[in-house]
Amino acid sequence: MGILERFSLAGKKSLVTGGGTGIGRAIATGLAEAGADVALVGRRPEPLEETAAKVRAIGRRTLVLPADVRNQEEVDRFIDAIVAAWGRLDVAVNNAGIGAHMDTLDASEAAWDEMIDTNLKGPFLCMQAEARVMIAAGGGKIINNASMSGSIVNRPQWQAPYNTSKAGLIHLTRSVAAEWIPHGVYVNALSPGYIVTEMADNPHIRENLQPTWLRDTPIGRMGTVEDLQGAVIYLASDASNFTVGLDMIVDGGFTIF
Ligand code: NDP
Repeated sequence: MGILERFSLAGKKSLVTGGGTGIGRAIATGLAEAGADVALVGRRPEPLEETAAKVRAIGRRTLVLPADVRNQEEVDRFIDAIVAAWGRLDVAVNNAGIGAHMDTLDASEAAWDEMIDTNLKGPFLCMQAEARVMIAAGGGKIINNASMSGSIVNRPQWQAPYNTSKAGLIHLTRSVAAEWIPHGVYVNALSPGYIVTEMADNPHIRENLQPTWLRDTPIGRMGTVEDLQGAVIYLASDASNFTVGLDMIVDGGFTIF
């Protein structure tokens, strides 16, 4: 098979959590352009519907499945719905997540729980349900959207609970990658640097934080959501069939320093 064919996702059935906005939306349209049908999960239906319209405009099928990834029953329900509609799940991108800047001495127990539940327990529950379906079918590709913050400490803002949740997700990725690759299930992480979405780009951030971020980024600009599509298609496709447990950092060089 030629190299471009190995990047193709023609006929694949995929899932993106947090697919209604930002990075998740670009991942969903990227998967669709590469040939996959795409199921979309998030709590709010409206943004999911907007992404679904874009996927359909590309000519692929889609499922809109509102759910909270922190809730095991809801996770099991959307995985069941995908299997009921499409019969299988080839590619799952666990992208849903939240971010927050806070000084650690001010961080409440509730803020810690919300961060860890969303960014670490959520992908854990999703991966369990996804892998069960994939193992029964002989394999699949799972991609966890972590962050460069899982392996560095950002500045000038403090965000210890976020950084910790993403470090946990990277090690969870490696742990289950080793456990599931004998069953044909590939698990890898994508770790973006600073990307222009609501999470990392608003007037306060632009004025107070981005000058430091840009000074520390060799490429000299923020990333766009499209900058991540190539990495996801690589990890989702047969082009990455010897890539297991990788933390693929796409950060414009930020972590070089
Ligand atoms: P967004 O806030 O645009 O996207 C987050 C998405 O996750 C939303 O669509 C949201 O939808 C969904 N979500 C949040 N909580 C839940 C939940 N409990 N259940 C289901 N869905 C949920 O931000 P980004 O696109 O920037 O972030 C996407 C991912 O990328 C996150 O994991 C983030 O940590 C990571 N990332 C982002 C970076 C950046 O610079 N932007 C850098 C590195 C990593 P809804 O609210 O409707 O549920």
